[in-house]
Amino acid sequence: MIIVPLGVASATPTATRHLPSVALWREGTICLFDCGENTQMRMLQAGLKRSKVDFIFITHFDVDHYSGLIGLLSTLQLQRRDKTLTIVGPKGIKKYVEWNFKFAEVDLTYDVNYAEIEEDFEGGKVIDEEEFYVEARPLKHNKFCLGYRFQEKDKPGKVNAEKAEAMGITDDWQYKDLKAGKDVELDDGTVVESSDIVGHPRPGDSFAYITDTSYHPNSVKLAMNTNILLHEATFSENLADKAEETGHSTSIDAARVANEAQTKLLVITHFSARYTNPFVLLREARKDFFPAWLATELRPIFTDPAHEKGIIQPKVYIKEIDGNSSGSGDRKPRGKSSGGKKKRFRKRKNFKGKSSGSGNYSSRRKSDSDKSKSSRSSDNYRRKKDSRDDNSERKPRPITPRTPFDDFDRF
Ligand SMILES: [Zn+2]
Repeated sequence: MIIVPLGVASATPTATRHLPSVALWREGTICLFDCGENTQMRMLQAGLKRSKVDFIFITHFDVDHYSGLIGLLSTLQLQRRDKTLTIVGPKGIKKYVEWNFKFAEVDLTYDVNYAEIEEDFEGGKVIDEEEFYVEARPLKHNKFCLGYRFQEKDKPGKVNAEKAEAMGITDDWQYKDLKAGKDVELDDGTVVESSDIVGHPRPGDSFAYITDTSYHPNSVKLAMNTNILLHEATFSENLADKAEETGHSTSIDAARVANEAQTKLLVITHFSARYTNPFVLLREARKDFFPAWLATELRPIFTDPAHEKGIIQPKVYIKEIDGNSSGSGDRKPRGKSSGGKKKRFRKRKNFKGKSSGSGNYSSRRKSDSDKSKSSRSSDNYRRKKDSRDDNSERKPRPITPRTPFDDFDRF
């Protein structure tokens, strides 16, 4: 699961921050939470296909949280979408969307499935799919506002194939039954128990989106034991009165919810335009809950680093600006026909290990920071050599980096 903040401003956008929206990518499907103005452009910039959006969750009817909705739906119409789209939000969302398209005399080519939530709703599942569900609960704002929790259902445990084979399991249906928790009887009468072969179920990923609210116990319920909690922190603690008055949270409120809910990572968002440097908010939040970070637009957050494999291919080059290999000096690759303007192939970091799989770019950075003297240097050299060999075999297509976060640090 990958979370990509698309807009981290509060009510008014700034030169660098857009109106609220966050995308959740999972197995090729995108769920959008809120859809402020500019959402569809930010999706493009993040490399997220708009056609992949299958669910849109709107928290409330403050204009900054849904002003991008009609534009996005209209683009999907122009793309001749035919898949059903599901929109979840407070009661009235259907009327709003339908009125807009009636006004524009547009007949949508695709079906929209609405899940409207009434104001007396106390909380529960609003979407229940085969592999995940989404739960909503009312929050405490100056109008009806919903928080959401996206929860993957538990995945079946891993099958110990070696053990299964040794015990005489050969057919696909037998594996299927074992995975489904059923015991399998072999031809000779022996019973192979599922619990012997299949490990414990693996817990699914979880994400909570809580914005436009003062502190409320429902926020804690939604965020309980989540992998990622994206919580608003509109104000810093010295504006706590203003936060209370306007139905918003301070960074301390966000940290309090994170603490009580025991989330793994708190990411704060929805910054008031008065903070040109939102790090002041982060510093405050970290005093109470350390695993906290700022939502940064277009910077992806992986709930599980292993998921990154195969999703993002290392295919971004660093173009040498001065033809002098940017001072890499003795580490200059000994390519046969480097005609001055040699393109470099930057390998993505393997986030599980500290630096395995580093390519030329990160090796160069290491040499700059004196780390080449470490005991790993010979390993690095070998890897570098390997990556050069890879390079000569396939010629990856040069592309323009979409975001500044192609080589971001894990937090
Ligand atoms: Zn807002």
